[in-house]
Amino acid sequence: HRQRIIAIEKDRMIGQLAATISHEIRNPLTSIRGFLQLLDQKELPLHDQKRYIELALSGVDQANTIINDYLNYAKPSNGLQEQLDIKEELEATLRFITPLATDHQVNIEIIHETDDPLFILGESKKLRQCLMNLVKNAIESMPDGGHIVLRTCKLPDGVQISITDTGVGMSQSQLDSLGMPFYTTKEQGTGLGLVVVMSIIKMMNGKISFSSVLNQGTQCSILFQQK
Ligand code: ADP
Ligand code: MG
Repeated sequence: HRQRIIAIEKDRMIGQLAATISHEIRNPLTSIRGFLQLLDQKELPLHDQKRYIELALSGVDQANTIINDYLNYAKPSNGLQEQLDIKEELEATLRFITPLATDHQVNIEIIHETDDPLFILGESKKLRQCLMNLVKNAIESMPDGGHIVLRTCKLPDGVQISITDTGVGMSQSQLDSLGMPFYTTKEQGTGLGLVVVMSIIKMMNGKISFSSVLNQGTQCSILFQQK
């Protein structure tokens, strides 16, 4: 019975989220349309042309971010649980995100504390989406560049991934707000990245925790328990 209630709650939440997402994507689309109309005028000074193009492009980026952060996850899962080596999953995520890191003058170091593979059961796509969102946040927390350490290790009760940045950090009240839909402190943020992260980790029976010091940095740890 309890499971059923949870399932209904979850459906309702996803439904609500989907409605809000459509709205969130419509905003940048409306503004892109507006700027394209403005561009469609005779004898528009060149600097206005440039400005409208830039604004339209930033609308495209905004819509794209929402799709990356949320809609990838909204796709139904294929339900296939495979053996995943968290070391490989982290390496794959790193390869994918390196261009963004380089753009932001961020260098990323990866440390595997053991040579053994660290297997868990899950869906590679989902885990990578989750790691992507976390590393992206770490990069975005360092507007003047910085350093990220990605670490994997074996603990007595399971395997752990941690992501440590030297960024702006968070206050206690910010930490308490993490994972609330649409909670963001960024001008171009969606506040959806961590909603997705937390729901994936929950689905995989993992535990995620954050510790942070303002102006020094943040550490995020994910533990996958094993018996
Ligand atoms: P978004 O990145 O679009 O803002 P997220 O759900 O990914 O949405 O993150 C929500 C908020 O959590 C961010 O706006 C930021 O305030 C805070 N946050 C998340 N990760 C970090 C981090 N590594 N360092 C500092 N703040 C963070
Ligand atoms: Mg984010």
